Amino acid sequence: MQIIKSKKEMYSFVENQKRENRTIGFVPTMGALHEGHLALVRESVQNNSCTVVSIFVNPTQFNNKEDLRMYPRNEQADFEKLRAERCDAVFFPDVEEMYPEPDERVFDLGSLATVMEGEFRPGHFNGVVQIVTKLFDTVKPNRAYFGKKDFQQLAIIQHITKQLNYNIDIVPVPTVREKDGLAKSSRNELLTAEQRKIAPKIFEIMSAAVSEKEKYSVQELKNKVVSKINAIDGLRTEYFDIVNSQTLMSVNSWDEKCEKIGCIAVYCGKVRLIDNILF
Ligand code: AMP
Repeated sequence: MQIIKSKKEMYSFVENQKRENRTIGFVPTMGALHEGHLALVRESVQNNSCTVVSIFVNPTQFNNKEDLRMYPRNEQADFEKLRAERCDAVFFPDVEEMYPEPDERVFDLGSLATVMEGEFRPGHFNGVVQIVTKLFDTVKPNRAYFGKKDFQQLAIIQHITKQLNYNIDIVPVPTVREKDGLAKSSRNELLTAEQRKIAPKIFEIMSAAVSEKEKYSVQELKNKVVSKINAIDGLRTEYFDIVNSQTLMSVNSWDEKCEKIGCIAVYCGKVRLIDNILF
């Protein structure tokens, strides 16, 4: 497995792969790898002759300096995990390499980026698209793998891939969970033992809501989820919405003919967790 730090080296790695007619599967990550990331890597290794994983904690997608500073980093352990999965190359640039000058690009992401995460993390998705387009242009993959755990991010990447005419298949991968239902996340490492015990309640309460949906209106069910979560000491809901999975617009009635996804952000102490569930 090659560890590549510069774009220039990455370009020549990619050229070699293309010359030998290998397909490139790409998994962008911010590191602190867990089984959720590895599910994406496995999917790529299975379906491509070459897999590239990037590890880059992208400063432009953090709207909070403290959050960026606290973000877990674990590169040596990450490299070992990727070697074990038979990943071919890790792209591990530093900030200067990816942003030799400030990225002033502003992308038109429409209403996909103004709701939910977009409302509470202004500029976040613009930063995500800045780095993902830079990575796509460097790695030039045939397929790129994204987790459904970050459902809104996935929708935005699918949108921008079409808008900018990238010839890249975006492959969604189901959310990997802990045994108790908590979605795997690098941020789980930041939870105290006490917080780790209550965090699974988020998915538990959403799952219970799915099975009760016949009994309540959309609005009643949304209110119920929020009040149940907020009643637990140590949890505070930032938003919970049930949206059309294509447009991410709020659903008003169960009769609307679309796939419906419940998306949530909850503070567990200072740690912000997101999750979603199919309704
Ligand atoms: P991150 O390192 O958090 O930026 O995540 C990198 C990629 O891994 C993104 O496409 C995430 O959606 C995906 N991912 C993170 N956690 C999970 C999970 N629990 N299950 C599936 N995919 C995940």
